[in-house]
Amino acid sequence: DFSVHLHVKSNDELGALAKAIQLLSRDLAHLKKTRSEFLASISHELRTPLTYVKGYADIVRRKELSEEERIKYATIIYEEANHVAALVKELFDLAQLEQHSFSIQKEAVKLYPFIQRVADKMALAFQEKGIHFEYRCPSSLSLQIDPNRFEQVLVNVLDNALKYSKRGGHVRLDVEEKSKHVLITVADEGIGIPEEDVPFVFERFYRVDKSRARSSGGSGLGLSIVKEIVEAHGGTVKLESKVNKGTMITIELERDIEQ
Ligand code: ADP
Repeated sequence: DFSVHLHVKSNDELGALAKAIQLLSRDLAHLKKTRSEFLASISHELRTPLTYVKGYADIVRRKELSEEERIKYATIIYEEANHVAALVKELFDLAQLEQHSFSIQKEAVKLYPFIQRVADKMALAFQEKGIHFEYRCPSSLSLQIDPNRFEQVLVNVLDNALKYSKRGGHVRLDVEEKSKHVLITVADEGIGIPEEDVPFVFERFYRVDKSRARSSGGSGLGLSIVKEIVEAHGGTVKLESKVNKGTMITIELERDIEQ
């Protein structure tokens, strides 16, 4: 237990110190609780897919199966193993981010070629799902960002737009220069998010529809990683959404970090 009780009732330095220690101890207690909640959710998130893997692998090794059943069970095992792999990768990213969050390696990045490169990597996935993907970015803009981390931001956000869009939908990535800042928006015409869930989507492991997100391979960590990276750059990120209309993510970066 981190709680500390100091009964120093004075307005001098000692009083201020006592107050500071009290506040700090409250922070530590909160941190400890968040940490154990975090560990509990990780165990849960890993246990669920592993239960499927174990169960179906056991059936496959014990039972005489038709070809159709064998493929069905092997597919479940494969998908659940993929889910675990994605989760472990995101956990690793998160751990790395927390370790290095004070050493974001900023450099002057020309935004247009940067966005173009990320968009090119994603283009095939959009094409395969029959989603129209476009991007727009001023050609002269440069920003002080960590290119690796920022690529991760864009990939996570675009990957969500892809996962939660329907065939025939449009996804747009726009970069706009304002007087004091740069706005990066990603808008889709997908399934959207109910109003009551929107405030929580940046929390670790939060998924709107657990069963649906599972089948699309989501871990609920993507947006929390996005938020950590954007905030480590001194920026903000918000999400607006309407069910069955679509979702828009807006990332705002101060222009004074621009070269
Ligand atoms: P996940 O890995 O599950 O996609 P995220 O942290 O990236 O986790 O997102 C959290 C939840 O927010 C998702 O599970 C999904 O329910 C919802 N979500 C995120 N982006 C979108 C989007 N573009 N359209 C609809 N729902 C979204």
